[in-house]
Amino acid sequence: MMLSLALELIERLAVRTDPERVTRWFGMLPPSGLEMAQRSRFRHTLRLAAERSPFYREQFRRRGIDVRRIDHPSQLGDFYTTGEDLRAHGGEDFLTARADTAFETTGTTSSVPKRLYYSRREIDEMGRIIAVGLYVLGLRPSDRVVSAFDCSFWISPWVLRAGVQYLDCFLVEAGKIDPLAFYARAGAYRPTVIFGEPSWIVRLSEIAQTKGAWPLKFLFAGGENITEDARETIERTWSAPVYLSYGQTESFGTLGSECRVKSGYHRNDPCFLFEIADANAEGYGELVYTTLTRNVMPLVRYRSSDITRLIDDPCPCGLFAKRLGKVRSRCDEIVVCGMGNIGPWVFAEILQGVEDATHDWQAAVLNDGQRDIVELRVEMKESILQAELERVVRGHLRERFPDFWKNLEMRLYDLHVLGCPSGSLRDGRKLRRVVDERQMLERPVTVPATLSEANW
Ligand SMILES: [Zn+2]
Repeated sequence: MMLSLALELIERLAVRTDPERVTRWFGMLPPSGLEMAQRSRFRHTLRLAAERSPFYREQFRRRGIDVRRIDHPSQLGDFYTTGEDLRAHGGEDFLTARADTAFETTGTTSSVPKRLYYSRREIDEMGRIIAVGLYVLGLRPSDRVVSAFDCSFWISPWVLRAGVQYLDCFLVEAGKIDPLAFYARAGAYRPTVIFGEPSWIVRLSEIAQTKGAWPLKFLFAGGENITEDARETIERTWSAPVYLSYGQTESFGTLGSECRVKSGYHRNDPCFLFEIADANAEGYGELVYTTLTRNVMPLVRYRSSDITRLIDDPCPCGLFAKRLGKVRSRCDEIVVCGMGNIGPWVFAEILQGVEDATHDWQAAVLNDGQRDIVELRVEMKESILQAELERVVRGHLRERFPDFWKNLEMRLYDLHVLGCPSGSLRDGRKLRRVVDERQMLERPVTVPATLSEANW
């Protein structure tokens, strides 16, 4: 309990006094101290869920779980919370207190969104941790931030706002507008830091290559993965680093954030307990997390569907927080890319009513070094003109998925449609509908020269 209070005090001080000094105090907490604070927060979360959330109350009752005997998630055996649970029961069944706001995730295995509820107090709490992370990357009150995060039901603009308010920076929110329009309008605010989705930042960088780059301190990308080639091109364009954060709407943003070494995400351990389910010999498996500081809609052992690993070796940057590896893939056929969060149902709907298309099709996500390419391969009954097939598919995309169409128009990805001969796509009995064929390799570790000068 004492350690939990100490942790809270340090978090508060981190953004109210001198974040740099307090970040060092964080590092002085013995590792067992953080662990004990996590356990105390976990016990509180579990009791809250068991007492007040209809979903957890029923699950624990049915499985005979006595939460008073549990002090680590691993003691819950094969009990997990899944995205399917959120969809089937609705977010309301998970509530343990009154909510002030809600967000949605799309692009799951069906068109039904997951609804996630929060209180402003929770958002504020998370903002403190986010502020510490951004401070470590170099964000200061003198910086001028312009964000291109989409505001529609999406959590990222709130996450950013929650963090920036503690650092007292100038902030303009452009929303996810066409990068051309952004370039034309944002320059007037003399931004030093830009936030956006990776595919959107790639497109903005292409524009900057011809029209001229601004003097930026760094770019910060969230919402999807990025290839190291694309990262290098962006960094060359702006002569500034690109940092990635990793999070989900279910986690209220940041589960982890990169440091200057850019080799994995430093874990947000004060707010989450992380586990890896079904790990292979190299430690890769599905990331599972339990929320530790939420009291409106706590999640116990939530299966993220993302394949990664926990890295416990110290990071060359010297920061105390341990890391998560780069996310390798999703385990549910959902791919997060320049088009958006896409799953099999999206393409099934696009192909509805396409003459001579069979039920055998596959969408592959590729990357040409910079931009994601969505290649829709469709087995056809009759051989037809590629151009005609492409015209019909694009028409359906525009009518049925305006958001995905908008991203195509903004050139955040390319769409290729290929008519294939019957029987050519199946590999054995099962046809994988959406496949990620991009190479999401981890970055080789190189310590930037500036690190030795920086005071860590
Ligand atoms: Zn690091």
